[in-house]
Amino acid sequence: MATISENIQQLHGRIERACLQASRPVHSVTLLVVTKTFPATDVREAFEAGERRFGENYVQEGVDKIEALADLRDCVEWHLIGPLQSNKTRVVAERFDWVHSVDRLKIAQRLAEQRPAALPPLDICLQVNISGEASKSGLAPAEVAEVARAVAALPRLRLRGLMAIPEPAATLEAQRVPHRALAGLLATLNRDLGLAMDTLSMGMSADMDAAILEGATMVRVGSAIFGARTRPTSPEG
Ligand SMILES: *Cc1c(COP(=O)(O)O)cnc(C)c1O
Repeated sequence: MATISENIQQLHGRIERACLQASRPVHSVTLLVVTKTFPATDVREAFEAGERRFGENYVQEGVDKIEALADLRDCVEWHLIGPLQSNKTRVVAERFDWVHSVDRLKIAQRLAEQRPAALPPLDICLQVNISGEASKSGLAPAEVAEVARAVAALPRLRLRGLMAIPEPAATLEAQRVPHRALAGLLATLNRDLGLAMDTLSMGMSADMDAAILEGATMVRVGSAIFGARTRPTSPEG
């Protein structure tokens, strides 16, 4: 079995090839290493292989790993990518660097109130239900403008962009469709609202190449690095 470090090296090769195909600079795509269900020792291995950004789905599991890896805290970023309930916003505002899964204004308002003044602003992405799946969380595309305008005006937060978990699709061409839609939405919002959002958080192990072809700036990858998750979990958490 390949080691975590070998998988990471391979993954950077895959990112480079997709960037080359898209005529994009390699450094325009950031790898967010998704560590949910994997132990802190695996995260440390990814750190030792050069990774500095880690994504967790569950607040408590994330906080446990942040604590287990407290010695790395100053040189890594922790991103919350899973659903966030209002009763968990305080610990997130205090412990994380990014939240990708903001899907209503109330959550952003609480994060803004609770972000400690001593910390830099919390980086925020709005989650969009880009495939229109009834079971999925995320704002409907038509709702995003109103929420984006309000979130951009909140203190202690920095609205960085949009995040999506598109419906799985079998072919590269089919995978590109929702990613293209999210990229189009970001461009429209920046133009219409005068915003400068710079982050398209899209692409996972199975559809990362399609996401990069459509402009992803941050890909969120777990199983291609750590192997299959044994604890059952959906991409939503
Ligand atoms: C689990 C998860 C990922 C990573 O998925 P893989 O298929 O393991 O690469 C990315 N984004 C979110 C929101 C997730 O929950």
